[in-house]
Amino acid sequence: MITGRQLCSTAAIVVALNVFVAGAATPRPNIVWIFSDDHSYQTIGAYGGRLQSLNPSPNIDSLARDGMRFDRCYVGNSICAPSRATLLTGKHSHLNGKYDNRDAFNHDQQQFQKILQKHGYQTVMVGKIHLNGMMQGFDYWEVLPGQGKYYNPDFITEEGKTHYEGRYVSDVITDRALNWLENKRDVDKPFMLMVHHKAPHRNWDPADRHMSKYADVEIPEPANLFDDYTTRGEAAHGQAMEIDRHMNLRHDLKVEGHWVENPRFAERAKWFAENKPTGRELVKWKYQTYMKDFMRCTWAVDESVGRILKALDEQGLSDNTIVMYSSDQGFYMGEHGWFDKRFMYEESFRTPLIARWPGKIKTGTVNDDLVQNIDFAETFLDLAGAPIPGDMQGKSIVPLLKGKTPRNWRDSLYYHYYEYPGAHSVRRHEGAFNGRYKLIRFYGMNVPNGEEWEFYDLKNDPTEMNNLVNNPEYAGRIAELKKELKKLKKQYRVPNEPPPQQQGRKKTQSKPAKRK
Ligand code: CA
Repeated sequence: MITGRQLCSTAAIVVALNVFVAGAATPRPNIVWIFSDDHSYQTIGAYGGRLQSLNPSPNIDSLARDGMRFDRCYVGNSICAPSRATLLTGKHSHLNGKYDNRDAFNHDQQQFQKILQKHGYQTVMVGKIHLNGMMQGFDYWEVLPGQGKYYNPDFITEEGKTHYEGRYVSDVITDRALNWLENKRDVDKPFMLMVHHKAPHRNWDPADRHMSKYADVEIPEPANLFDDYTTRGEAAHGQAMEIDRHMNLRHDLKVEGHWVENPRFAERAKWFAENKPTGRELVKWKYQTYMKDFMRCTWAVDESVGRILKALDEQGLSDNTIVMYSSDQGFYMGEHGWFDKRFMYEESFRTPLIARWPGKIKTGTVNDDLVQNIDFAETFLDLAGAPIPGDMQGKSIVPLLKGKTPRNWRDSLYYHYYEYPGAHSVRRHEGAFNGRYKLIRFYGMNVPNGEEWEFYDLKNDPTEMNNLVNNPEYAGRIAELKKELKKLKKQYRVPNEPPPQQQGRKKTQSKPAKRK
């Protein structure tokens, strides 16, 4: 499939000739893609909800005010590195080969940035990509090794490693991105600038300047902070991501070990040693502490967004640049008593997506079409007027941005999580979601045929507390969604057998994808 070139409706912007598509009257847009790690929609003010009154994200909110907020953007596999592999390839995990965080990523395969580059775009990646090996298809890249560090981070480039002593990672990422924008950019070519933050990934270590933020604030709790998983199956009962039992005092909450000497946490550690809360009070204290550290980390990300928007203004680029903000997946902010991600339940399955594109996106609009991270690669190519390979699995959301959802837009999504056994002990599962009903199949379980099914009606049960899979009133709906799941698996070419459980532990490079 080759989409038509994206042409602006009004001419008159005078820029150098070769930023124009041949024969077109107006320049192709620049794309700024700002991507964070684990930034939940619940902690973005523009999405409303229980934390909105805390005003946690003024700059990201400004993007929504000046552009479009997507309320139903989802991922295909809610975990860091596989989500990034999908971002670059436009394919679900079973086709790009990156099933879990441990797999090697095959950089030789087709990726959108290689195509953009061939079609005259400057392509740049700065920050966290969390994929081993040398990046391909970028004119310039400077990335964190693996997870990277919050303080004194190292960055790697094709030339080697650079150490930033005394610096905070979110600030360095912004500095390096702006350094490229202001000093290294070829002003005669359009660009794709990807700014990928490490924050707010665990262990939520904020910048010094944000430690006093929310100091005297009581963060509202979710109603299901003390969820007992009644009606849910073994997967929900057997996970290891509870604030109560699995969030630790040392690494996560920073009141034990070397942290007690750290000026950022010394006062907290002293309070904890003196007061030693227990039982429900301990869970409530852990929740408050976790939420505050998380939102302090997202402050630095939000400041980064503000600095980037300001730089675009100063460079005269705002009018012809689409700015998009998203995260590699959602995250639990105490819902179900959890932190982390992985499950197909809403808080981690869904991810934020906000876009601003002056003159093209109507300001202050909200889209509720079913969008998925397989769509991002095709969207970037479509924006650039570049050809979209037929084996990419998403759909360009450019028509949605312009307020014109195609009549045949998708009406269901496919999901598949693989990393078990693994961190947080979330069972392997796949499922289908049609915007109201959600069907989940956990497999490899300790039951006769190894399968446990769950079914939710999000309209009546938005927090997914009531698994209806054995409710006869829903038998018809369940059968319909089982059929839909089968159809989606065929459509997306999902193998009948998932990879073996040890898959990914081997450090061998996965097979290169077949070239067309
Ligand atoms: Ca992540």
